[in-house]
Amino acid sequence: MSIRNLTNKLPYPIVQGLKYIHGAIPLPIRYGKIFRNTYKFLQESQWWDRDKLEEHQFRQLEKLLHHAYANVPYYKRIFDERDLKPKDIKSIDDLRKLPYLTKDIIRENFSDLMTKNYPKSKLVYATTGGTTGIQLGFYLERGVTNSKEWAFICRLQNWAGLRFGDKKVILRGNVINRIKNGKRQLWEYKPNDNALILSSYDMTDENMIKYIEKINKFKPVAFLGYPSSLYTLATFMKDRSLRINNPKCIITSSEILYPHQREIIEKHLGVKIFDYYGNAERNVLVMQCEKGSYHIISEYGVMELIDEIQNSVQKDGEIGEIIVTGFNNFAMPFIRYKTGDLAIYSKDKCTCGRIYSRIRKIEGRLQELIVSKRGNYISMTAINMHSDIFDNVKQFQFYQDIPGKVTFNIVKKDTYTIKDTAKIYNELMRKLGDNMELEIAFINNIPKTPRGKHRFLIQKLEIKYGE
Ligand SMILES: [Zn+2]
Repeated sequence: MSIRNLTNKLPYPIVQGLKYIHGAIPLPIRYGKIFRNTYKFLQESQWWDRDKLEEHQFRQLEKLLHHAYANVPYYKRIFDERDLKPKDIKSIDDLRKLPYLTKDIIRENFSDLMTKNYPKSKLVYATTGGTTGIQLGFYLERGVTNSKEWAFICRLQNWAGLRFGDKKVILRGNVINRIKNGKRQLWEYKPNDNALILSSYDMTDENMIKYIEKINKFKPVAFLGYPSSLYTLATFMKDRSLRINNPKCIITSSEILYPHQREIIEKHLGVKIFDYYGNAERNVLVMQCEKGSYHIISEYGVMELIDEIQNSVQKDGEIGEIIVTGFNNFAMPFIRYKTGDLAIYSKDKCTCGRIYSRIRKIEGRLQELIVSKRGNYISMTAINMHSDIFDNVKQFQFYQDIPGKVTFNIVKKDTYTIKDTAKIYNELMRKLGDNMELEIAFINNIPKTPRGKHRFLIQKLEIKYGE
């Protein structure tokens, strides 16, 4: 029986007690050798010069390709079909000799994508959230992929000023396990992580008053959360002029952070946000540094940006789809995986001293684009509305099922008036352009996704990009 199975059967106070004991072990020791080695390595590699970092990245890629060719039938086949050997990939650019990996290909070749030289006990099954489309299942390397992932995340947390064991509030769609008097609780303290986990699913006005009281008692150093959940909390504080002790940092991820969200969260929680982009498949990581730049983390994998006509994006300000090759999962390697996410390239150097390539911003998923009458795409981030437009709006969501027409669904606050409708309509039409019809509708509630996220657009049209 595993420790997890065992603790599931014990009464809650005893489990908490065990977690306190577990929590007394210093984190770097608790997370094991792979974590420690990776973390230590990352402390140094972030300051390497370009040659050294590129050399390291290519060596990692070589290792992955050799492994894939020797042990993963799917890759053996695609190399052979192209009369290629791993040694023919002599640079990162040569990766383009290999085809993309899509979710459909993964589903159709599932067992052929698994490495043949690992026992079942070395594999761990995971899935994507599946918020846009069907869930994807895949395997990770037990004890390796997530340990390394955690080392990278800890380095990001260091960039943001968070240290091991610092107190944090987490608002990331976690399900609260604590049950008292037969009722599921709104929060739970995790002693082993020194974290107060708040439920993202219960953010009613009544509960949020309790959240603020709890936060003020807890005095966290950091907030880790989905942008939508932290935004809900921050607007609630704004509307009621509530305050908390300012934390030292805020770290967001797992959703696109929109400018109006950043503005409100930073203002009312009182510090700058560090945002990062990654995926459940564990093959890409883009993180903001102290200077606010989004850096592509090259020790983690290779990230390509490919435009609509299949060229690599090289120009500042150009958009492309994110194609990734991750180094931390040899159980089921993802090589040139199409993420379905878009980003804008940046050529600017960062003043933080790290030479990682940059992107200007993540544009979101392809399914988060609005389609105009002429078939042009409008990005949700380009709509970029100023926050005061939403002063009297509790939540909103776009809905589209006809090209050139979009519905803007609003959940009103009590203070909402007809003037708000005019303001929102005019502002949105200015951003969307003449090529769009806009309808404003009112609804009572916008449900969250199964992972507790908020979707800003329900897109029923199929978005094609580069096909
Ligand atoms: Zn930087």
